[in-house]
Amino acid sequence: MAKLIDGKKIAQEIKDELKEEVSRFKEAGRKISLAVIQVGNDAASSVYVNNKKKACEYIGIESLSYQLAADTVQEELLKLITTLNEDEQVNGILVQLPLPEHMDEDTILKAISPKKDVDGFHPISVGRLWLGEKGFLSCTPAGVIQLLKRSNIEIEGKECVIVGRSNIVGKPMAALLLRENATVTIAHSKTKNLQEITKRADILIAAVGKKKMITAEYVKEGAVVIDVGIHRDENNRLCGDVDFEAVEDKVLAITPVPGGVGPMTIVMLMDNCVETVRN
Ligand code: NAP
Repeated sequence: MAKLIDGKKIAQEIKDELKEEVSRFKEAGRKISLAVIQVGNDAASSVYVNNKKKACEYIGIESLSYQLAADTVQEELLKLITTLNEDEQVNGILVQLPLPEHMDEDTILKAISPKKDVDGFHPISVGRLWLGEKGFLSCTPAGVIQLLKRSNIEIEGKECVIVGRSNIVGKPMAALLLRENATVTIAHSKTKNLQEITKRADILIAAVGKKKMITAEYVKEGAVVIDVGIHRDENNRLCGDVDFEAVEDKVLAITPVPGGVGPMTIVMLMDNCVETVRN
């Protein structure tokens, strides 16, 4: 029987550690605030934004809410970002994605000051990550590293395969695993003989965005499997990129969906907010 990597429990542990750290900063007169910008009222985005605000409240970070209409022009959003960049009371700025189609996501994300880039999406943050310098880490991959470390799963020297090369998951995941001295392979939609490659993995990370694609044939006996995917199955229940039932008996440890990687993303966002005052 595989060990379940309990993301909910680990996320709560980190939240409590951050809460304590924030209260120490407050005693020393340092407050932390996060500006959260949502454009339009996409239902899923509203849920994410609310969860982020709740996490801020729990930890003791002030959240400043900016709700803009869906037809807001890009210039107006850029103006707001400039104001927040210059506001010394604001530590972090987060623009909830996706943005409406008339806006250029790249332009918006680059407009956020690298000093306040708590999502870790700015090219300067990405560059620092690959150079191994201190900086804001991309939240979901940073959460995966915490899951592994806090479950006492050794990363150094391990063969790690990531299925997916997106800018928000696959690529930063590779950079973080390299930092931990893993041997890293990134697979994607043009990869040949995918099963042969994934079967080499001591640690297999599925960030492919395809419901239950990773079946037992993709997994080595005794591997650790981390499932980043989030989908709804035929019964409208949450599931991941991994076919959990098919893989569970073959592996050493696995993250469930829900309750695995999901809860870690927001917590690592909170960690980035606290990072703004650590130095
Ligand atoms: P994405 O941008 O769609 O990227 C998917 C990647 O998988 C791409 O690199 C793609 O290759 C590759 N891919 C697609 N089909 C493939 C196949 N048949 N074989 C091998 N590789 C294939 O997705 P993402 O944003 O990285 O997200 C991945 C999953 O994680 C999604 O389910 C998403 O909802 C979830 N997610 C969860 C969290 C969380 O907090 N838990 C956060 C972010 C994302 P190409 O590059 O060649 O197209």
